[in-house]
Amino acid sequence: MRVAVFSTKPYDRDFLTAANADGRHELALLEPRLSAETATLARGADAVCAFVNDDLGAPVLEQLAGAGVRVVALRSAGYNHVDVAAAAKLGLTVVRVPEYSPYAVAEHCVGLMLALNRKIHRAHNRVREHNFALTGLLGFDLHGRTVGVVGTGKIGVCVARIMAGFGCRVLASDPYPNPDALAVGVEYVPLETLLAQSHVVTLHCPLTPDTHHLIDAERIRQMRPGVMLINTSRGALVDTRAVISGLKNGRIGHLGLDVYEEETDLFFEDLSDQMLRDDDFSRLSTFPNVLITGHQAFFTEEALHNIAGTTIANLTAVERDGPDGVTGPARVC
Ligand code: NAD
Repeated sequence: MRVAVFSTKPYDRDFLTAANADGRHELALLEPRLSAETATLARGADAVCAFVNDDLGAPVLEQLAGAGVRVVALRSAGYNHVDVAAAAKLGLTVVRVPEYSPYAVAEHCVGLMLALNRKIHRAHNRVREHNFALTGLLGFDLHGRTVGVVGTGKIGVCVARIMAGFGCRVLASDPYPNPDALAVGVEYVPLETLLAQSHVVTLHCPLTPDTHHLIDAERIRQMRPGVMLINTSRGALVDTRAVISGLKNGRIGHLGLDVYEEETDLFFEDLSDQMLRDDDFSRLSTFPNVLITGHQAFFTEEALHNIAGTTIANLTAVERDGPDGVTGPARVC
């Protein structure tokens, strides 16, 4: 297939080229993000390959279908950025990578918890300046604390398993309790109970209309004062302004984010010589008890290898067997 690959970074080029070593597909590795302005770059392609901040709303999908594209291959598990109904109506086949390394995301999530709790980011800066004072760096034992996992799918279960290993009590909320979570001693409770009892709340459910702003001002009020909130799932699960208020009034004691509601114009780019126009992001960056990474939880060798391998396999399967070549969770529509 001729594939227009959008949002390509050097690491995507390396892993996709290796996965396509037999040269079966003709990959046009394009740096721009997919949008209404850049969709014309897909002219002549059979498929587009897209990442999490590419625009796959109805107008862009219409442009792609009009240009002859038949397949959208997502290099991600999440597909909240795709207008699936529009894609189905246009006859586009959308495929994804449902699982590439839940460990990558779970381990990064726990990394945020540890760094925030023991203030490792601040300690590092102090030691570099030969300030060896400990005042302000006091943490707590995770052992014996309660961790609330919202969403116990592939990633949530990994987080639950790691936290159970730390000696935490693990509570969970999910409409579909997972036997793997029960096997590590997770207790399923209503979300309100989880929020009221957890010292750490970590989000691992997908972004859907139902979960948009799942954590809002009311839910923050239901949390334990001084709670640690971690979001490595999707930015819009959290109402940013409500979280900023929670940080200001101390309801939220620590905040760890790998995703941000308005990340599309920020993340994955080097903007170090530009003025940031996003006042909420700027405000979040001023809190000493906030740690933000730029959507890097997935970013391990294993994950990139699996993302590239599954993406190429998806394209091959659709080329060989038509849309029904990809079945199960890898097929979005
Ligand atoms: P998954 O589909 O295996 O699990 C999601 C779980 O959430 C399911 O068990 C589902 O029942 C549950 N759920 C749905 N609605 C819920 C609700 N309202 N409350 C509680 N639980 C709910 O997904 P996964 O592979 O574990 O990934 C989880 C999310 O992580 C993805 O949707 C994606 O947004 C995000 N993610 C982030 C990165 C990153 O780099 N930061 C990488 C991969 C995935």
